[in-house]
Amino acid sequence: MPVVRTNIHCTARARGPRKRAGGPRPSTNDSVAGPTHTNGALHASVLVLNRLYMAVHVVGVRRAIAMLFCQRAEVIHVEDGQFANHDFHSWRRVSRLQVDCKRPLDDWIAAVNFELQVPRVIRLLSFDRVPRQKLHLNRRAVLARDESVCQYCGRHFPLHQLSVDHVIPQSRNGKTEWENVVCACLACNAKKGGHTPKEARMRLVRRPSRPKRDPAILLKLSDPKYETWRMWLNGARWDIGVG
Ligand SMILES: [Zn+2]
Repeated sequence: MPVVRTNIHCTARARGPRKRAGGPRPSTNDSVAGPTHTNGALHASVLVLNRLYMAVHVVGVRRAIAMLFCQRAEVIHVEDGQFANHDFHSWRRVSRLQVDCKRPLDDWIAAVNFELQVPRVIRLLSFDRVPRQKLHLNRRAVLARDESVCQYCGRHFPLHQLSVDHVIPQSRNGKTEWENVVCACLACNAKKGGHTPKEARMRLVRRPSRPKRDPAILLKLSDPKYETWRMWLNGARWDIGVG
């Protein structure tokens, strides 16, 4: 259970509505001063729901905590299939109760005088829309779609040993589009060179296609600590962006 020290500032960049919800804003005494370190907890992701409980975005921990602190969002905490809503103060109280019995899959951030459990899901308090997000085609998305499996030799590789290959090479006017790019290990990419698979006598494991779901979300869901996201993502639209 990673624990990091962090600063919480209302000035952190937070998209979405700027209107403040009612109720007292957390006292400035809640501001946390101290060194900021980066480790697993700050690299965690938080699913953002709109006011109507529809998944709209995925953000980093800093942004999620900033929105919570500024009362633009509340925590949706899932326990035994039930969920409860918490503002910053009550989430801090929940965290205090759980601080001595941290679970392995939970992440925590540490302030000077308290620790806060990293929420997995937050809900925007005054944002009803479902913004249209583009499914970005980039290296990370292609590798995620192909699950880090070289589409020529069928073997799984760590990310740094993988590349993106144009099935029809760019030198042959092959386009950079979902249907023409695949994950390839460095050896297969070098072997294929500027040839088509047929010319290089290589066969694709799977015909590339545009994913119906954001591959980055799929990767997140393979991590058990994001299990609760399924409650809002199963059967829902998936073309939400990962921030
Ligand atoms: Zn390969």
